[in-house]
Amino acid sequence: MKVVDTIPRMSTLVKIFRKEGKSISLVPTMGYLHEGHASLIRAARKHTDVVVVSIFVNPVQFGPKEDFEKYPRDMKRDEALATTAGADIVFAPSAKDMYPDGYSTYVNVERLTDVLCGASRPGHFKGVATVVAKLFEIVRPEIAYFGQKDAQQAMVIKKMAADLNTGIEIKVLPIIRESDGLAMSSRNIYLSESERKDALVLHEALKKAEAMIKSGEREAKKIIRAMKELISAIPSAKADYISIVDITNLKGIKVLSGEVLVALAVFIGKTRLIDNILMKVEK
Ligand code: AMP
Repeated sequence: MKVVDTIPRMSTLVKIFRKEGKSISLVPTMGYLHEGHASLIRAARKHTDVVVVSIFVNPVQFGPKEDFEKYPRDMKRDEALATTAGADIVFAPSAKDMYPDGYSTYVNVERLTDVLCGASRPGHFKGVATVVAKLFEIVRPEIAYFGQKDAQQAMVIKKMAADLNTGIEIKVLPIIRESDGLAMSSRNIYLSESERKDALVLHEALKKAEAMIKSGEREAKKIIRAMKELISAIPSAKADYISIVDITNLKGIKVLSGEVLVALAVFIGKTRLIDNILMKVEK
């Protein structure tokens, strides 16, 4: 496994791989890797000759009051995990390299970014789409891997990749959870012992929604109300949003039918966590 920390070096390697006729996959991450990231790397390993894992805490996708400075970083640990999962290259450019002085080009995916996390984190998806577009240009992969954990992000990237005619296949893989149901996230490290227990309420609320839908409930309002009740029973928890949306356009729905996404963002203390489930609903 090679660590590449400059864009020119990465570009040179990509040219060599291309000449050799090798296929390339990219797994974009912000590091502090866990099993969720490893599942993407392992899938990439199966499908392409070269697996590139990017590690870049992208300043442009963080709001001014968000956790950019304190976002967890541990390069040595990440290198070990990426190697074990099957990465060939860890690409870790510097922020100066990605956004030199005078940088002025951004990618904005309209509409899909107005709702859910886009509504509570203005500018977030502009930062995400921009950095991923840049990574696509640098690494030029055939396939890029993303997690369903960040469902809206995956949709935004799919739209961006299609709209910009990148020709890159976007694969979205299931959420990896801890054994008690908490979705794995680099941000889980922020949680105190008691908050870690409280954080289970996200998955519990989603399981509640799933059970209601399975037993025939189709009214979004009722399902959301039941989820809210569970969350408001936990003193450290404060819902940012709880939404049931059409998976094709992320618009809120009143009566469930077809493929729906039940998604929520909840603050546990100061830590904002997200989770979701996808469900096929029969009328
Ligand atoms: P991050 O480093 O948090 O920006 O995530 C990098 C990629 O890993 C994104 O495509 C995420 O959706 C994905 N990912 C993060 N957590 C999980 C998880 N628990 N299960 C599956 N994929 C995940």
